[in-house]
Amino acid sequence: MIFDLHVHTTISPCSQLTLDEIISHAEAKGLDGICITDHDTMAVNRLLQEGSRNEGPCIIFGMEYATREGDFLLFGPFEDIRPHMTGPELLHHVASEGGVAVAAHPCRTGRPVSEALMHGGLCPIMETTNGRNKGWENRAATQLGDKYGATHIGGSDAHTLAELGKIKTKFHEPIHCRADFIQALKNKTFSPLPQLTPA
Ligand SMILES: [Zn+2]
Ligand SMILES: [Zn+2]
Repeated sequence: MIFDLHVHTTISPCSQLTLDEIISHAEAKGLDGICITDHDTMAVNRLLQEGSRNEGPCIIFGMEYATREGDFLLFGPFEDIRPHMTGPELLHHVASEGGVAVAAHPCRTGRPVSEALMHGGLCPIMETTNGRNKGWENRAATQLGDKYGATHIGGSDAHTLAELGKIKTKFHEPIHCRADFIQALKNKTFSPLPQLTPA
């Protein structure tokens, strides 16, 4: 199944992409599934049923959580997560709840992820291809991921319809619900799809 695992709806103040647009354009964008990762909220859960649907894409709820040490895509039982945790607090919390944190755009100018967090295995998956990054930011992230033995993943970070599905990841097993998605991340049964690297 082909997923875009980093997508913002208009619940995020910075996004112009509506939930209706995401659902109605998924197929045309080549997506079987989409993770909704609004900034610091899982409020999408009030608007939509999660998981596989009879028609249209599988929708999984996550979030993008900002810390002073960087941003993380979170997947797990985090509807009521405490805000304003530090990076180490967040990563320990996510692990203790059985969730997964993905380091989002770890080398983006202005929003990097602190390299101190990559020691100790709390951050084993890194979004080394991000659809809004410059080419060199993604190349630096790829090198960083290799340096720490991280698993590479990609996400579009879509805030507009044009960006939806720009970066895709192929999951090798069927995903019907959040638990399936988390298990696939933990089992690393996915491959980032080849992407053109802009200069
Ligand atoms: Zn945003
Ligand atoms: Zn984002």
